[in-house]
Amino acid sequence: MDLGRLVEVWSALRQTSSRKRKTALIAGLLGESAPTEAGLVVHYLSGKLPQGKIGLGYAMIRKVFSTEVDAHESSLSLIELNDTFELIGQQQGKGSGARREQLLQNVVVSLSASQRDFLAGLILGELRQGASEGLMCEAVAEAASVPADDVRRAYMLCGDLARVAEVAFEQGSQGLSGFRVVPFVPLRPMLAQPAADVHEALDQLGQALFEYKLDGVRIQAHKSGSEVRVYSRALNEVTPSVPEVVEAVQKLPARSLILDGEAIALRSDGRPHPFQTTMRRFGRRRDVAALREALPLSVYFFDLLLIDGESLIDLALEERLNRMRSSLPDDLRPPRVVTREPEAAEVLWSRAISHGHEGLMAKALDSHYEAGSRGAQWLKLKPAHTLDLVVIAAEWGSGRRRGWLSNLHLAAYDPEHDRFVMLGKTFKGLTDELLEWQTKELLAREITRDEYVVHVRPELVVEIAFNEVQQSPRYPGGFALRFARVKGYRPDKDPRSADVFETVREIHANG
Ligand code: AMP
Repeated sequence: MDLGRLVEVWSALRQTSSRKRKTALIAGLLGESAPTEAGLVVHYLSGKLPQGKIGLGYAMIRKVFSTEVDAHESSLSLIELNDTFELIGQQQGKGSGARREQLLQNVVVSLSASQRDFLAGLILGELRQGASEGLMCEAVAEAASVPADDVRRAYMLCGDLARVAEVAFEQGSQGLSGFRVVPFVPLRPMLAQPAADVHEALDQLGQALFEYKLDGVRIQAHKSGSEVRVYSRALNEVTPSVPEVVEAVQKLPARSLILDGEAIALRSDGRPHPFQTTMRRFGRRRDVAALREALPLSVYFFDLLLIDGESLIDLALEERLNRMRSSLPDDLRPPRVVTREPEAAEVLWSRAISHGHEGLMAKALDSHYEAGSRGAQWLKLKPAHTLDLVVIAAEWGSGRRRGWLSNLHLAAYDPEHDRFVMLGKTFKGLTDELLEWQTKELLAREITRDEYVVHVRPELVVEIAFNEVQQSPRYPGGFALRFARVKGYRPDKDPRSADVFETVREIHANG
């Protein structure tokens, strides 16, 4: 398949907000591609390079793509493009920067204007084509004539939609059923939707499991024999950072296990450290022992997905809880109650809050384990509102804050249109340390600037507390946050898993 054809569809995707139309466009394109190309189509339309990072920095991209060329239509195929990315990624050592630039330049000179826009966006991870993962799953299903549930399930089990697409095309549903729950292949995690309070949660779920919502780091622990590996929410392996989790899982009697849970640093009085403090334990491979000494991690498991070779993801939560009871000691599980009475849930709520925890999770007892938050089977309950928003620009501070980027422009993600919708600004809650850090990080993401504002690539996710959503004609979405303040950055989240604009609308609707 030609890059030109893919870019045509990409342009068409950007011009429609209809989910049905988008699905049809992507499915049509997948239908035209050879089975070996389907994975690339999925990668590219999801805005991702299969190779991940290939050492092309922002400055180089800007230079290469701003060079004037006589645009002429190219017949560059997706496979050729992919080969070039491979080659770029392989360059190492002295002069590799120049060689990467040359390789990219060779491709770019033969592209039309829209193809160049596409390619620049793709490399920078900034494509706005409005194809969410959910929509992509549906398009793959439609094009391969397999049930969407089969695609979603395979994607949950392997975390690689391009591979799922290839299998769907080459082997259909039968091939997809070959994806299994197995140790050391992390599953995409089940996520929660916000709910206002325990009453709303009970209205939605009926009798439910309520448990502490711990403000730590999501982990998935896998065990087979004596080997234990731990994965992050983004499915990266973090085993070396969390020896406490490894030791806790090694002690469990089961031969094989997949456990879903939260690792959290608690103070000596048992109250949690702030999320950012727990995060210090992750991503660092050196000095783990010293850090462990200073900031020990506790681990709590709230779900069991596999035990002794048996997958539990299709069992109801109630059954998974029973299995957990017999295979995990109680102190490895968060405090919880199963109830249909608001009073009983509120007792747990008060305990959670008074012990410094974030709030409660409420879970449907008959729910299967399903990646993402479709169907809202898990609900999260927190006191004031907090949202994870994306910083799209920042204003220079004045007075004491002169020289620092201070007032943040905050946006929610709109998956329908794959864009970020601004909701307000805040400079509250920022410590000097954060001001310094964000100035550096934001400048590294600069796109343009004027006298007061630096516009940045929408990459940093920041947790914002606020009291109210009010209507406002000043912002594009028609809503603004009142009393917004920074709680902290969320380096573990990518901008497309930030809170969505629809949630803001709902918070407004619920008063
Ligand atoms: P949020 O990150 O605010 O969307 O909330 C969902 C996250 O809460 C999950 O991804 C977990 O990391 C975390 N969490 C804390 N306690 C629990 C729990 N008991 N059950 C499920 N998730 C929990």
